[in-house]
Amino acid sequence: MLKTMEPVENSSRSYYQLSVTESIELFDSNSEWGLTSEEVANRYEIYGWNQLPIKPGKPIWLRFLLQFHQPLLYILLIAGGVKAFLGSWTNAVVIWGVTVINAVIGYVQEAKAEGAIASLAKVVTTETTVLRDGQTLRIPSQDLVPGDIVLLTSGDKVPADLRLISIKNLQADESALTGESVPVDKSIQSLPEEISLSERTNMAFAGSFITFGQGTGIVVATADATEVGQISQSMMHRINLSTPLTRKFTKFSRILLYGILTLATLTFVIGLGQGESWIYMFEAAVALAVSAIPEGLPAVVTITLAIGVNRMARRHAIIRKLPAVEALGGATVICSDKTGTLTENQMTVQSIYAGGMHFEVSGSGYSPKGDISATDPCDREKWLEYQLPPPLEECLIAGALCNDSQLRQTGDDWLVVGDPTEGALITAASKASLNQASLVASKPRLDGIPFESQYQYMATLHDHVSPVIYIKGSVEALLGRCSRMMGHDSQTTALDAVRIQKAVEIMAEQGLRVLAFAKKEMHIHQHSIDHEDIESELMFLGLQGMIDPPRPEAIAAVHACQAAGIQIKMITGDHIATARTIAQRMGIQKAEQVVAFGGQQLASMDDHQLAQAVEEGDVFARIAPTQKLRLVEALQSKGEIVAMTGDGVNDAPALKQADIGTAMGKGGTEVAREAADMLLTDDNFASVEAAVEEGRTVYQNLRKAIAFLLPVNGGESMTILISALLARDLPILSLQILWLNLINSLTMTVPLAFEPKSKGLMQQPPRNPNEPLITGKLLRRILVVSLFNWILIFGIFEWAKSTGSDITVARTMAIQALVAARIVYLLSISQLGLSLFNSICHRDLSITHTPILVMGIVGAVALQLLFSQWPVMNQLFETAPLTLMQWLICLLPMLPMIPMAALANWIDPS
Ligand code: ADP
Ligand code: MG
Repeated sequence: MLKTMEPVENSSRSYYQLSVTESIELFDSNSEWGLTSEEVANRYEIYGWNQLPIKPGKPIWLRFLLQFHQPLLYILLIAGGVKAFLGSWTNAVVIWGVTVINAVIGYVQEAKAEGAIASLAKVVTTETTVLRDGQTLRIPSQDLVPGDIVLLTSGDKVPADLRLISIKNLQADESALTGESVPVDKSIQSLPEEISLSERTNMAFAGSFITFGQGTGIVVATADATEVGQISQSMMHRINLSTPLTRKFTKFSRILLYGILTLATLTFVIGLGQGESWIYMFEAAVALAVSAIPEGLPAVVTITLAIGVNRMARRHAIIRKLPAVEALGGATVICSDKTGTLTENQMTVQSIYAGGMHFEVSGSGYSPKGDISATDPCDREKWLEYQLPPPLEECLIAGALCNDSQLRQTGDDWLVVGDPTEGALITAASKASLNQASLVASKPRLDGIPFESQYQYMATLHDHVSPVIYIKGSVEALLGRCSRMMGHDSQTTALDAVRIQKAVEIMAEQGLRVLAFAKKEMHIHQHSIDHEDIESELMFLGLQGMIDPPRPEAIAAVHACQAAGIQIKMITGDHIATARTIAQRMGIQKAEQVVAFGGQQLASMDDHQLAQAVEEGDVFARIAPTQKLRLVEALQSKGEIVAMTGDGVNDAPALKQADIGTAMGKGGTEVAREAADMLLTDDNFASVEAAVEEGRTVYQNLRKAIAFLLPVNGGESMTILISALLARDLPILSLQILWLNLINSLTMTVPLAFEPKSKGLMQQPPRNPNEPLITGKLLRRILVVSLFNWILIFGIFEWAKSTGSDITVARTMAIQALVAARIVYLLSISQLGLSLFNSICHRDLSITHTPILVMGIVGAVALQLLFSQWPVMNQLFETAPLTLMQWLICLLPMLPMIPMAALANWIDPS
């Protein structure tokens, strides 16, 4: 049990004053062994989950009230008020009722969309490495308890408040807590009293990120006892539902509103001037305002985006930021990592070069079945002298020892725990009967520098009798540090860099990922190593080349993207020749040959040259993570919409800059995930392509919704405007317009959000990013159909009146006729309509199954029946029941709507 509970509950305030030993003692823990499972269970009882309680954002009532904070609703509220003042209470109540319904729909939609995104983000849990019962384990961060020993490495998110007990070049980004954007160097010395949070360098605080190095710390505070827990109100970022598109809509409706208000006022004034009663003119002005505004549109936009988010999740792409859904639909370039995203990340060593000889390695996967044999017959003779040629043996030993991973056997399957690149090296060694565990036992490891893309190498220090450092990494990183090499008979010879480079080329051109190996024998015993220790005087041991096959589904996705006019760029830390071969195999190149650029070459270019290179190139190899940002910016300067994948610590700036920053849900670091707009749960390129497809579908369905909604608004406003100016009876009243624009529009438009993608969707080039939402074609379509709708409403109303119908009946008939024609129009833009058309004309009986659309139509018909046949509705909306004959007449406009819809589809095919 804890010696004292007091400090823990008081959060981590004073732990920085304690020494390392004191803090470990205080928590009754052990830096070598960690806590025991029983102790963890005990503490768990006391402290609970290491999870910040979700603090509610704005209260529900306020969020509901905010739904009324829209210019349109102000108009409606005031209109209701004036009606009430005039004594038409039913009218007033219905108008107010409609505003409430509208607010409820808006509120529910928002809450649902936010909930969907929030719960998706949780799918990917944060894990942490902890020492318990003497073993290092990966556990969900929420399982931590005070006293746990946590291992940190660059890219991690600090899971709880930790007092650091050992560090190696540890740096943390604490900007979330302190606002300071420069990473802080960490230490372990105890610090004096009374210093600010940012000066407590021997602590790592929950919510900060490790940007460099490694470290170990003891958990001193979890959940809301952490520093971030104390200020978490400000940390809980609310999900933002606004996207460029919704902002465009808001702007559009504001402009529309001012236009409408001016027009309505003008109508009102002109009407009064013509001697109309002001009650009539007020009704006309309100009706005009209400008719011109697409009330249902905001809800439809949110629903469509939310459905897109769900569909993407089903296809392994988790959206973290809503604007990404839209950006995906317009993506013009995808920059993808090679290893693991385009390829399987299933490594097998196939080729080794050591002591001037080439060797072939047989076998597949990580199983130790397979042989190593010299390629050249002459070398085979040399081989006979030894059981294993010494340089080959040393090269394999280096691979197995300079290694942070292990292999596990389950049945016949061999799995890598750790990095596949390293797993392949263990397998290669075991094919020469060199067992990793026995090697480690005979040469225990004292210290290591883990692999980081930035440096492209890894080193480990081993000491038993004589100290030695093994290093592995890219040829570029290692060769310059080597001064000698091991000859075929274990003699040290001069370094033949030219021959080594030749051997690298041969392997890389076969698409093999090449690693170089070296060692350095030390003369003094030391406990730790640093980058300086391996700067020079290394002995080159050899090369190992491993195959990493492309993912078949990624190849298909590459082709799909190309058909859709989206460029693919491979960005990799790997060798240029390897990357080029893999790109060629996957068909990434635009021209006959792959155009590849190296990182160094790019570094020497100015912005203009870079922009040129980035357009032409297919492959960018040996790219340092920091260069990715420049690549994204260069592409964007060319007007491209860029999706960029990344997983490392240093990828974060590029992910933030990209239009669709994409992080890996399985492999990537927390830093990258936090910066990303989208996560791939399967780390697979094919999922980026799937997300693009869904993004395009969202956009297409939004366009359909607009094409469907706006002509009704157009038709209604024309009707009101013309009738008012001609001083004729209004064919529809403001309340009835509200019914049409909200109730009827929503039931019929929401199904459009569920439409599947159309056949040609991925055969079209990406949408021009500067193209407005309402293109010229779409506008023409809207105008033409609006005109039709005006003729329909005005025509039916005037005809009914002239044939002696009551004005209420005439209005009801006009509305019912409009809805009937609307059903035909809905079918004409939906895929159901399209496939019905196909099945009639081409006898193609495969009808696209869209039950929701059918439900929408059935629902709309039922509501319309109520609208005119139910006395309550007659009261509320001033409608009248129709006779069968009248109903049939209302259905007639469906016929002319058929050629009309065909004309609209011809004007604006989409
Ligand atoms: P990518 O992920 O794009 O393939 P990396 O940054 O992982 O690029 O690798 C770049 C180079 O670093 C590789 O070509 C290889 O030579 C070297 N390398 C990769 N993984 C390791 C590792 N675990 N240890 C040492 N060197 C490595
Ligand atoms: Mg990698």
